[in-house]
Order: sequence, then C-alpha cells, then structure tokens
Amino acid sequence: MAKSQTPHIVILPSPGMGHLIPLVEFAKRLVHQHGFTVTFVIPTDDSPPKAQKSTLASLPSSIHHIFLPRADLSDLHEDSKIETVISLTMARSLSFLRDALKSLVAKTKLAALVVDLFGTDAFDVAREFDIPPYIFFPSTAMTLSLFLYLPRLDQMVSCEYRDLQKLLRIPGCIPIHGKELLDPTQDRRNDAYKWLLHHAERYKLAEGIMVNSFVELEAGAIKALREKEPGKPPVYPVGPLVNIDPTSKLDGSDCLKWLDEQPHGSVLYVSFGSGGTLSYNQINELALGLEMSEQRFLWVVRSPNDTVANATFFSVESRKDPLGFLPEGFLERTKGRGLVVPSWAPQAQVLCHGSTGGFLTHCGWNSVLESVVNGVPLIAWPLYAEQKMNALMLTEDIKVALRPKPDENGLVCRDEIAKAVKVLMEGEEGKGVRNGMKNLKEAAAKVLSDDGSSTKALSKVANKWLIR
Ligand code: UDP
Repeated sequence: MAKSQTPHIVILPSPGMGHLIPLVEFAKRLVHQHGFTVTFVIPTDDSPPKAQKSTLASLPSSIHHIFLPRADLSDLHEDSKIETVISLTMARSLSFLRDALKSLVAKTKLAALVVDLFGTDAFDVAREFDIPPYIFFPSTAMTLSLFLYLPRLDQMVSCEYRDLQKLLRIPGCIPIHGKELLDPTQDRRNDAYKWLLHHAERYKLAEGIMVNSFVELEAGAIKALREKEPGKPPVYPVGPLVNIDPTSKLDGSDCLKWLDEQPHGSVLYVSFGSGGTLSYNQINELALGLEMSEQRFLWVVRSPNDTVANATFFSVESRKDPLGFLPEGFLERTKGRGLVVPSWAPQAQVLCHGSTGGFLTHCGWNSVLESVVNGVPLIAWPLYAEQKMNALMLTEDIKVALRPKPDENGLVCRDEIAKAVKVLMEGEEGKGVRNGMKNLKEAAAKVLSDDGSSTKALSKVANKWLIR
C-alpha cells in the first residue's frame, strides 16, 4: 500500500487533563503551522472523564485519537501516589501501544513519538518501529532542569532533600529549599520517587525535549538547559502553548454571562486546577477571606477532602453535594458580588474575559501560562506536584504573584487571604505584580509571533520531522 506523505506524529499523553491540554495545543500548532497529521494514543485505567472527551471531540480533523484498552492496576495499593499510578498506567499500556503503532505504520510513515513527563518507557517501543522519541515537557524549564539534574543530585545527597540545611541550586534557577521540590522527591523510599528517578535517568534517551516555557519567563533555567553537555538532548522552548480557543464549548457559559455584567478588571478568579481539593477548614477560611476582601470573585469549588490535595486529578468532578459545605449564609451574603461554580469552569475563556482582574491559583503550569498570555496577576496557592517550585519562581524570581502565608498548622487564614486579594486587585503594593504581568503578556505575544523565538523553536523541531 502506498504510504501517505503528510508528516504524521503520534502523541502519547499521560493521564490527567493538565497533561492533555498543552499537548493538544502543541498538536494544533503542528497541524496549522506545519501541515502535520497527529494521532493521540491515550492510555487509560478508567473510562475517560467528560472534560477529556469533550476536549478531544472539539479538535480539527487532522488530529485523531485512539483510546487504548484499560491498563490493569488492580494490584495497586490504595495509598499509591499519583506519579506511581501514572507511570504504571503508562508501563502497562506498552503492549497496547505496540499494537496501535503497528497498525499506524502499516498505513503511514511516523516521524516521531512524543511522550510527556512520565512516558519514557514508551521510548523502547518507538525504537522497535524506528520512530524517534521526543518529550514534550508540560511544566517549567525549572522543573525540567531539576529532572535532568536529579540523577546527579540523587548520587550526591544521601538524606531526604527536605532535611538539607543548605538551599539547593538547580542549574540556572533560584535557590530552593529541599522541602519545596516537587512532591515525589519528598520521600525517597516511596515508589513515586523511584519512578521519578527512573524517568529522569531516561530523559537523555530522547532525541529532543520541547518545554512549555519561554526565555523572558525563565531566562536562567533556559540558558542552563541549552548548555551543551554529552548525553543531553537539545531543548526547545516552545511555550506558552495554552488553550485560548474562544470557540471551545465547555459547560459553564453561565459564569461567562455573569462576567459580562461585572466591571472591567474587577473579578478575582479562584480555581485549583483539575485536581485540586482543599480541606473542610481551609474551604471555610477561603470563603470567609473572599467575603472579607469585599472584592468580586468567581470561585470554582470542589467538595472538601481532608486527606489529599489532588483528589480529583483523574476524575475532575466534585463528588458530593457541591455547595453544601460552604459556611452558613456565605452564598446569600456574597450574592451579586461573588459567583460559586461547582467542579469546572471554562477557564481559558474566564481568563481572557475583560472583567477578570486577578487569579488565585494552585500554580498548575497550564493555569499560570493561561494567566500570563492574558496578563492576569496571580495569588499563588500551591497544593501538589511541582506547584511549590512554580510558586517560588513566580513570587521570588519574576515577581508576578503574591503568596499568602499559611499559619503553623498549614492553614491559610481568612485575614491573610483577604489582605492578599485586596492588594492584588487594587492595592498600591500590588502594582508591581500587576505591571510585571502586563510586561510578560507582551513578551508572550512576541515569542509566539511569526518570527518569535518559540515559533522558531517549534519550526526547528517540525523541520527535523519533515525531512525524516
Ligand atoms: N481547567 C479548566 N477549568 C477548571 C479547572 C481547570 O478549564 O475548572 C483547565 C485549565 O484551564 C488548565 C487545566 O485545566 O488548562 C489545568 O491544568 P493545570 O496545569 O493548571 O493544573 P492541573 O489540573 O494539572 O493540576
């Protein structure tokens, strides 16, 4: 059979909306700017969540998707960390991936297999078919710098990183305390750390790494990543790739209508990403803090979870009565000034709406980038994964976020919240943060313009794939 000549790549996303969304944007650019065809091959361990299905259903016709059969995780301990669940889902989907690639290569030549941060086990399958493997790193250059440094750090440090007295120096990055490093590094005996190290060691096997960042945002880290070293793949900063499609249809248009009625730049958007959950007490404090701030707000709320901070990472949906746990009278007292939305809001549209003037975020990297492209300043409230690293970089390094301090029990109290919200939205002290974000917005538009650095970096990768 004659093989199709359109350049075709396969993308293997690891589970979670936060991983899928930037890969979808990456795919769209390859299709629109370089005429590629893309097939998403999607590992699963459960039925795909609604948000994932509607995202995939809205894609251009040159982007296809195949859901792989469910990976069997029945032997998994219920305490298993998210990185272990993701890595095992990927590892146990390899035979399904092999079948999918076999049928694809029978029809077309595949120019690359792109995995994301926990997909490196698929490299071996790609090589079986002579397909070069690449990584799309959906987080910061800082976290990527840590991944590449981790095998060395693991050799140099024998204790837990959180017990180190000295600040750590990840190449090119602001010094950081060990306890602020990403979650799976916090217990080196846990399988999650072993998986992390396993992937980090395999990063050098990639033909190249695309990172969702840009020079003006992370100059130091990107410079360090670009320094040539033996065994280090080339790094391409292609960001910010974010979901900015104003026509995408997701539930929640009521909140957009509500935003239409609010004054310009007056609303604080509050959301903890697809997976973030707060404890009952913390939700209470947040509600009362928002009320005390006297600012307008749009809050995406999920049922409280007192044990983990990422309870809805795979499902996105809030499980119980979505609003029954809010403080008594809160909804009535804030009516008109605040809107509470259960589980999910069309965030991309919310952040580009003129009424949105601030974003209280868990610092998931997609959320941060969506804010950057819209010039919306931040309140950093990191919960899990690499979010503490992101919060440090945003507040201490590039200074586009404020960070309310938790008390000695880890609770962020209502006064602290109200103060941060007021300063961000209207206070004199918040001016620097607001201006910093405006500058970043301009820089982001520039790097994505026709001759901008991120457009050029993407073209470089695409050209490598075109001549295969
Ligand atoms: N998102 C959304 N509505 C919500 C919550 C999240 O559209 O109510 C989107 C958000 O715009 C972002 C992604 O889901 O693109 C979340 O990714 P992020 O990296 O911020 O956090 P994660 O969910 O991976 O922790």
